[in-house]
Amino acid sequence: MPYRFTFDLSRIPRFFFTEIAKVSYQREMHKKVGKTVQRMIEKFRIQEATGLDLSDSVTLLEDLIEVQVRNIVERERFVQTKKRALFLPHCSRKFMDNRCKASFDPNIPSYICAHCSPDCAIGNAVSFGENKGYDVYVLPGGSCIPKILNSKHYEGVVGVACGEEVKAGGEVLKAMHICGQTVPLIKNGCANTAFNIESLYKTL
Ligand code: SF4
Ligand code: SF4
Repeated sequence: MPYRFTFDLSRIPRFFFTEIAKVSYQREMHKKVGKTVQRMIEKFRIQEATGLDLSDSVTLLEDLIEVQVRNIVERERFVQTKKRALFLPHCSRKFMDNRCKASFDPNIPSYICAHCSPDCAIGNAVSFGENKGYDVYVLPGGSCIPKILNSKHYEGVVGVACGEEVKAGGEVLKAMHICGQTVPLIKNGCANTAFNIESLYKTL
């Protein structure tokens, strides 16, 4: 399910995400970070940059921190997993219309990337993931995840998605005792979305 608001953090300085990682470590140490979140919103002028009100900015940052905390907690177990999947969101394809040459296989269900555009983040992520030995899926929505996990029995999953989808997917993984790592979208909106591909490469 998408957020009720749209955001674009793709122009926020990279340093912002380093701060998110630092704050996440503090949260992992059970420290309260409420005031730090407020300070970050002011420091990086998140409201001005995104047009979000304070409450939605807080939701967004808290979700980004939550995702990082889960990544930290699960990392050690994740690196020991062997059979892994990578779930990518269809909304980050370079094209959302018939210029995207991917076919869709409803039996999996997943788009099968045809690598039509060298600068497509999804095309690049598919290649990188497959080279690393992952089974890669380009999903039309998070509701496809249980079907795939029930038939393939993965030990570890890396997912790229917006915060809301990550939360829903995280619950599915937890119930199935599968280790997860997440790369959050930095621009949502269900079309032409964006994620940091370097973060994905590091996570894989
Ligand atoms: S590279 Fe793959 S996902 Fe991207 S537009 Fe082409 S076929 Fe679609
Ligand atoms: S932004 Fe992408 S991942 Fe999030 S709900 Fe929309 S289509 Fe799904």
